[in-house]
Formats: sequence, structure tokens, C-alpha cells
Amino acid sequence: MKEILIVGGGAAGYFAAIAAATAFQEAGREARITILEGSSSPLGKVKISGGGRCNVTHDCPDASDLVAFYPRGEKELLGPFYHFGAMDTVAWFEAEGVALKTEADGRMFPVTDSSQTIIDALISAADRLGIRQLMNQRVGSIEALPLTSENAASSWCVSTAGHERFEGDAVIVCSGSSPHIWRSLTALGLDIVPAVPSLFAFDTRDTRLRDLAGVSVQNAHVQIESADKRSGIEANGPLLVTHRGVSGPAILRLSAWGAKELAGCQYQFGLRINWLGQCSTPEAIDQINLARPALAKKKIIGNNPFSLPSRLFASLAEHAGVAPDQRWADLGREEAKRLADMLTNSLLKINGKSTNKDEFVTAGGVARSEVDFRSFAARRFPGLYLAGEVIDIDALTGGFNFQAAWTGGYLAGRGLAASL
Ligand SMILES: Cc1cc2nc3c(=O)[nH]c(=O)nc-3n(C[C@H](O)[C@H](O)[C@H](O)COP(=O)(O)OP(=O)(O)OC[C@H]3O[C@@H](n4cnc5c(N)ncnc54)[C@H](O)[C@@H]3O)c2cc1C
Repeated sequence: MKEILIVGGGAAGYFAAIAAATAFQEAGREARITILEGSSSPLGKVKISGGGRCNVTHDCPDASDLVAFYPRGEKELLGPFYHFGAMDTVAWFEAEGVALKTEADGRMFPVTDSSQTIIDALISAADRLGIRQLMNQRVGSIEALPLTSENAASSWCVSTAGHERFEGDAVIVCSGSSPHIWRSLTALGLDIVPAVPSLFAFDTRDTRLRDLAGVSVQNAHVQIESADKRSGIEANGPLLVTHRGVSGPAILRLSAWGAKELAGCQYQFGLRINWLGQCSTPEAIDQINLARPALAKKKIIGNNPFSLPSRLFASLAEHAGVAPDQRWADLGREEAKRLADMLTNSLLKINGKSTNKDEFVTAGGVARSEVDFRSFAARRFPGLYLAGEVIDIDALTGGFNFQAAWTGGYLAGRGLAASL
């Protein structure tokens, strides 16, 4: 009987164990599959994910569209998504009795709006397949056992903090962003890309945003600027002013695409914001000139011709030099230019980052060059597989991070069963 060890009982670990057990069962072969989970209960991140609702995946059937949401892993995940993509995830959960629904922005959740539904489905599938699920088994080291005359095939030994030893024909490492396991894999000889956070909000003390927490703009254009140069890292979308700075989908996108660069400058950089989205400064001047005759006798502050929240418009206008009582008729050409520039081209000094409580992930981990993405096997270590956040793969918010865990777990479990 084959012995399979899974390090970590999270999304990738459960999916890997279930895929491996299913593959062995379909082939009429016996295997003992053991999940070693360090904490006292499994699937802890699934539980808190999506604000307790678990954003399981994204309504994105096409693999080539799906990969565009992965700042790290875009190229490598194309093949895997053809084999197990978002619609396969939907079908898998439906077969387990979990119906998913799609929200207007494409995010998919269980119809129950409860992450417990996803946890229950994974645990009941694992129970049904006879998978051993051992809690409080914090893995300390993962070692390849030397090949001997009796032991001609590769085999692995996993030791826990409680000094228990587990031996297996193969091991799938699904420990998420655990620094301890990355150190253990480094000791084995794997190349590990240093970990940095992704999906975070930006902090700023910019006075233009003072007292505006809660104000949001539907479609802003944002761009990172470092050392006074505009970077290629830009995004469009909703932006939210917070107590500490700015957040919202557009900012989270920048934090993901710029995760490594922003860590490199210790989160001190410039953020260029066009509050009017794609509207250029000359177009904003035109809009001001068009609106001016009808608004001539009205005060500028309080009579906002743009689709911007009035409190934000008032603050930006004030910082562009508009006086509190100034009327539209009295706005000079230069003043109109200054106002248009403020609306389309504000530069904010960012001086730190804040956790996005809804979802955050780690960029970094096992270098993608170490992994054969057909089966998520470690290229240089027969019998070792990796899936989920332990690899240097991460995505934008929206269900994409779990999708990478489901896909990696599925292909690792299947690939391993086929190879033994
Ligand atoms: C607050 C929050 C909300 C999120 N919401 C979403 C969402 O709605 N949709 C989405 O797509 N993504 C979401 N994510 C990201 C998503 O949770 C991760 O991408 C996903 O959990 C990665 O799965 P994984 O199995 O690789 O790692 P994990 O889920 O982190 O699982 C790893 C497991 O390994 C265990 N482990 C670690 N070290 C050891 C050890 N030494 N020995 C034994 N076990 C160990 C851990 O205890 C854990 O159970 C969210 C993240 C956070 C933090």
C-alpha cells in the first residue's frame, strides 16, 4: 500500500488529498493518505475567507482570461487551468452538493453565504475517501530518505514538532505561507523567492483626504510613481478613502502587481491619481468650460459638475486654490487649469501599508522554476510535490487565490497517484 503525506490541511492540502484518494480509488489501488495539519482545526483560512462567505472562485471559464489575474504565475498556470479551471471547481463543489452563485463582479460564493459550507464539503469528501486528518501535527522537517537496496524507490520522512516521524512514498507540501516550511525546503535545496505581502491598502497623511474616510470613487485611474518616474504599474477601478489612506479594488490591484517593487522601497512612493478615471486634463478643462455658463452664479464648492462625491470635490477644489465663496463665473483660466489638474493628476505621498482585512496573500515562496506545472511535482526531487500559496504564485482579489490552490492541489494529487 502506498503512503502519501500531505503537509498542511488548508484549501490546497484537502484538495490534493481528495484528488489523490479519488485517483487511487478509480484505479482500484490502495493508498493511505494522511493530512498533517499544524493547528487544532483544518481549513482555517477558508473559514475567515471572503468575510466569512468564502469567495471560492471567479466566473471566468477561459483559462487564457483567468491567468491574467495572476501577477506571479500567469505563464505557468495556463496549462494547469486548461486541465482544472474555474468551471471544474464549480462542477466539483456542485457534485458535492454545494451550489455556488455569481455576484455582479464575477466573484463566486456558496449560495449559503457561509464558508462553513465549503469546509463541510471538503471534510465530508475526505472522510468518505478514508483520508486520515491529523490535527496539531506541526511539521518541523521534510527529508528525502536515502535510497538503499531494500528501498529502491524514492521515499520521504516528515517529522513533527512533537517528535513524531511519518514516512511516505511521496509528500505534497501545502503549507501556505509558512516561513518555517520554506526554511525546511531551503535546507532540502529548493530555491525560495523571499516572501512579501500582496493585496494591501496604502497609507498616506495627505491633507486632501483628511476627514474623507468612507468616500469612494467608482472609477479612478491610479499609477505608482517611484523616484519621480511613472512606473508601468497602473490600474483602473473603484477607490475607497480609508482612515489611514486609500484602498479599494484599484489600489489592491496596484499592491499585487507592485508587491515586490513596493516592498523594495519600504512602501514609500508616489501615487498618481486621476479621480476622473480616463478623463484627461484638457478634457476636464473642457467639461469645466461647458458646465460654467449654467453654474455661473453658483459657488464652485457645493456645485460639482463631475460625477465625484461632493465632499471629495470640495477638498480637491479647495486644495487647488478655489476660495470657499468663489463662484463659477469668477474662475479664471489659470484657476480652471489648476482645478482640472488636481482632479486628473493628484500626486499623493504614500508612507506605508495597511492590511486589507477581506483578503491578503503572500507573494514569494518556492520558485516557479522548481515546479513542473503538469503535475506540480518538484523538478529536482522525485516524490515531492507542492501546491497552493507555498509556491511563488498569487493573484488579485476575487476568488483567484483559492482557484490556484484548487488547481494545484488537484493536479498534484492526480499526478502523484499516476506516478506511483
Ligand atoms: C482574511 C483572508 C481572506 C481571504 N479570502 C479569500 C477569498 O475569499 N478568496 C480567495 O480566493 N482567497 C482568499 N484568501 C487567500 C486564500 O485564503 C489563500 O490563497 C489560500 O488559503 C491558500 O491555500 P493554501 O492551502 O495554499 O494555504 P493555507 O490555506 O494557508 O493552508 C495552509 C495550511 O498549512 C498549515 N501549516 C502551516 N505550516 C504548517 C506546518 N509546519 N505543519 C503542518 N501544517 C502547517 C496551516 O495551519 C494551514 O492550515 C484570503 C486570505 C485571507 C488572509
